Amino acid sequence: MRDLSTGVEHLSINTATLRKQLPLPAIVEACARRGIAAVDPWRDQVAAAGLAATARLLRDAGIRLSGYCRGGFFPAADAGGLAAALEDNRRAVDEAKALAAPCLVLVVGSLPGALAGRPAHKDIALARAQVEEGIAATLEYARGVGMPLAIEPLHPMQAADRACINTLAQALDICDRLDPGRSGALGVAVDIYHVWWDPELARQIARAGRERLLAYHVCDWLVPTRDLLNDRGMMGDGVVDLRKIRGWMEAAGFAGPVEVEIFSEAWWSRPAEEVLDACIARCKTVV
Ligand code: ZN
Repeated sequence: MRDLSTGVEHLSINTATLRKQLPLPAIVEACARRGIAAVDPWRDQVAAAGLAATARLLRDAGIRLSGYCRGGFFPAADAGGLAAALEDNRRAVDEAKALAAPCLVLVVGSLPGALAGRPAHKDIALARAQVEEGIAATLEYARGVGMPLAIEPLHPMQAADRACINTLAQALDICDRLDPGRSGALGVAVDIYHVWWDPELARQIARAGRERLLAYHVCDWLVPTRDLLNDRGMMGDGVVDLRKIRGWMEAAGFAGPVEVEIFSEAWWSRPAEEVLDACIARCKTVV
């Protein structure tokens, strides 16, 4: 297993972690000052800063991406909506390419309208079918430009509104069907917040293997959790055995950055510098 205690060269910051404190250029600069090697920005942050300007900023700062957040949300209530989702995913692939991302992360979506509190229907099987068709179509486009797609399974508490793919096994079944040759074009983003509880986790990480393990997101699961979306914990403050899971990832061949992704009203309310220093300290000691 890699030794993370001596430096920050294996650390990445998912920029949602600081989204309420700083705009993207300032996040990149703060990371660069600390020698952090990588970030994973969100599309809205990149749009606010400008795509070309962000690409230039990253190059000048010597910071690479550990992923690009995010594509997905494939299901829709009608043909027009399905087509619009595919078009938006092609744009996300192009942006990821412009930023030299190693993968585009997919949060696949579920019941159309559910995120806004108005689900168009109750047919999650239909949503899952539309997700697989959407990934297949996007994969064809992404292969053409050389951008790997990383399916991120989300915790089942988000099955209605954000993602109807909820386990690593489910995501890997889709990978096996759409990319049986394990080409590296399709894989998974393992986010411990979503999958730490899964009794199949060790087995599925081993099944994924190096070709399919495209990203690794860390935070912690707090007890109690006060908000399903925005109460993630800083590594070490919760109940996830982070070192054990990283051991499984690395034994399966994963050698990419460890990406800190913390959606948390508590951490968003602290100064950015303090949050970054905590991320670094915890990565060195508990991740
Ligand atoms: Zn994630």
